[in-house]
This record gives sequence, C-alpha cells and structure tokens, in this order.
Amino acid sequence: MRAYAVGYNERRMYYLELKVKAFDVLGNKCAVCGWDDVRCLQIDHKVAFKDDKNQLRGIKLLTAIAYETVEVGSYQLLCANHNWIKRIEKQENRNGKVEKMKIKGGIQNVPPNLRYLAELALNYKQNQ
Ligand SMILES: [Zn+2]
Repeated sequence: MRAYAVGYNERRMYYLELKVKAFDVLGNKCAVCGWDDVRCLQIDHKVAFKDDKNQLRGIKLLTAIAYETVEVGSYQLLCANHNWIKRIEKQENRNGKVEKMKIKGGIQNVPPNLRYLAELALNYKQNQ
C-alpha cells in the first residue's frame, strides 16, 4: 500500500458516519417532496447568504450539523431536483449567493429553448 493511501478508508468511513449523523439530524428526506434516497439528497442552506466568508462547507458543515453546534434549523435536505429548482428560482449561484441574472441585450438574445429558464430567472423578483 502506498503511503498516501494509509488512512484513506478510515477517513472515508469517518466522513460517511458524519454524513449519516448529519442527515439523521435533518430528517433523512427532501423537505419539499419527501424523497428519501440518500444518494440524491443534498444539504441546503435555507436562506441564501450574502457574505459567504464564514459559511461552513463540506466536512466542517457535516460535523456542525451532526453535533448540532450550528443552528440546524437554518439547513434542510433537498433532493437534487428541488435543490436545482430552488437555485434557479432564487437565482443562487453555486456558492448559494443570490445573483440577479442579467442578459446582455435582453431576453431576445436567449436561444428559444433556454428562454423559459431565462424568463424564470429574470422575472423572479417581480413575482415575489
Ligand atoms: Zn424533492
């Protein structure tokens, strides 16, 4: 076994145990539809953050939720579908920040097959 592989399985198991604990805390199912296949469940920060400097991610987030050292009510599990739908509707970027979508030249420059998504994103604020 190569040196870098030593401890890999232990670290992997530790990570999975943390994930199981954190998912238990969050209810083990999608907050929207109840989907409970953990392969498709993702941790979502309910309210998008403006400043992500202090946001917990990855193993630190799992640890904080698993041991409830963070306000767990701020987080929920969403299935991948509902996480993506939320991201589009709330105009969140990959870091969960809200970013108003702008299209140079306006909606007429968006290809017809993508227009529905663009309209959703552009009109979201007005439809609140
Ligand atoms: Zn769902």
